[in-house]
Amino acid sequence: MMRPQTISLDTTAIQAAWVAVAAFLLTVASLLLQPAFARVALWPANAILVGLLLRHGAPIRPLSWALMGVGLMLARLSLGAPQAVAGGLADLAGVGVAWLLLGRFWPLDNLRTPRAVVRMLLAGLSAAAATVTLGLLTGFWRPPAAASLENIAGSLFGQWLGYCLFLLPILLLPAMALPGDDRRHRDRGLLQHLRDWPARMPGLLLAASLALCFLLGGPGALMLPFGALLYCTHAYQQWTVAWLALLSALGVLLGFEAVWALVPGGLLSLFAWSRVSLQIGVLLLMIVPLLMSSVLAARSDLIVSLNRALDHDDLTQALSRPAFTRGAQEYLQRIPPAPYGNGLMMLDIDHFKRINDQHGHAAGDNVLREFSRTIREAIRPEDLFGRLGGEEFGLMLPDCSPEDAAEIAERLRACVEKIRLYLDSDEPLRLTVSIGIVHDRQGPPAGLAKLLSHADQALYQAKSQGRNRYCVHGTEDAEGTGGAAEPSPTSCDA
Ligand code: GH3
Ligand code: MG
Ligand code: MG
Repeated sequence: MMRPQTISLDTTAIQAAWVAVAAFLLTVASLLLQPAFARVALWPANAILVGLLLRHGAPIRPLSWALMGVGLMLARLSLGAPQAVAGGLADLAGVGVAWLLLGRFWPLDNLRTPRAVVRMLLAGLSAAAATVTLGLLTGFWRPPAAASLENIAGSLFGQWLGYCLFLLPILLLPAMALPGDDRRHRDRGLLQHLRDWPARMPGLLLAASLALCFLLGGPGALMLPFGALLYCTHAYQQWTVAWLALLSALGVLLGFEAVWALVPGGLLSLFAWSRVSLQIGVLLLMIVPLLMSSVLAARSDLIVSLNRALDHDDLTQALSRPAFTRGAQEYLQRIPPAPYGNGLMMLDIDHFKRINDQHGHAAGDNVLREFSRTIREAIRPEDLFGRLGGEEFGLMLPDCSPEDAAEIAERLRACVEKIRLYLDSDEPLRLTVSIGIVHDRQGPPAGLAKLLSHADQALYQAKSQGRNRYCVHGTEDAEGTGGAAEPSPTSCDA
């Protein structure tokens, strides 16, 4: 059956309206800002527009493209800029090319990889080339002699600079945070690391280097913030670096404009390509830290996934034995100790070997997966559930009284008893589990190894008393309900 059309005329009209208004306002702002960044011909409007369209996420309707073009032209007309139609068309072409190249990757693309950042930069270059080409074709440069190689190159790099400076910071803003975890202060956020001195250092150094850039000026000014920006890539998350790089680039440019204004006009013609040189310098000032940051973000993601793989058992997704032991030890040594003490359980699937023998090893693996899923869904997030080996699991219950631990054991036993697995027949496979419990407040203080051995003894008691039950170390009674295959439990011999 065909799905009904979900995009209503209203939605299309609303999208077209905001796109046109955004195109108009951004172009007006870029025209007004132009004198401040005239030497590098910086043009942020198109890049910001592409960023907004990508973040909007929805397909852009033909009406929106048409009204965007109108907005781009009207903005130029309203400020009396020359070649309003040619300029508007050229901008529209650039935005269209960037959208075509990036729209299909977004928001699926992970900007936390250098490859995605390079793609973003190349898309910006293509969009800039489209704008300049259309500008040439529609006669943007009047008289045609004005279309000198230097002017064209300056315009191309100015457009590209706009994409490099503005697109990534917009796309990386945290509201659209992409999957992955960056250990570099990511969890703390910008405001938190402002209160933390070591984390503040890179930011302070950057501010100092920008101040020096203004005070000293001169040819070295462009490189002054570079070292501090690289330092920031090691300390801050990717979106923070993108915004700091943007601010640094704008700061450096403003500084250059101020110094350049003092240069006698006649001298400038000697350096006709100085603009392109400055544009490339600023591009590198921005691009290198952005690439570094994405390399570090990708490496950080890799470390997180490797750590996860190391800490978890591949088959059951329970913690691996070393991770479980490490976590349990941390809970036991916690200062101050947990008010209710800690419970520790050992769980062992009953007659698991039979399942392997009767249904095959793959079926046994399915049973292990289902068992682990059932337990993980039944416990608290702070509880530690790990696979100790084979079909034997450990469960650490921090801050849990002996009574609660027993109650939880009974609940888990009942949950496992309810599992129905359909393997190779219509008759479901049923599972039962035996559980040994120990509590760290019962008896003299003991380390993890001792507690595990006591839990193992209690588990052995539960097994020897008929399985499908739990047994508490140091008590005489076993609790539980005998399954169909086992006689009802009576008691444990301590
Ligand atoms: P009991 O009720 O006394 O615990 O008996 P049991 O059969 O569950 O225990 P036993 O220790 O005799 O058998 C455990 C079996 O678990 C033997 C081993 O082949 C199987 N096993 C261990 N690891 C895996 C695994 O990763 N996958 C599968 N399918 N089987 C495993
Ligand atoms: Mg077993
Ligand atoms: Mg076993």
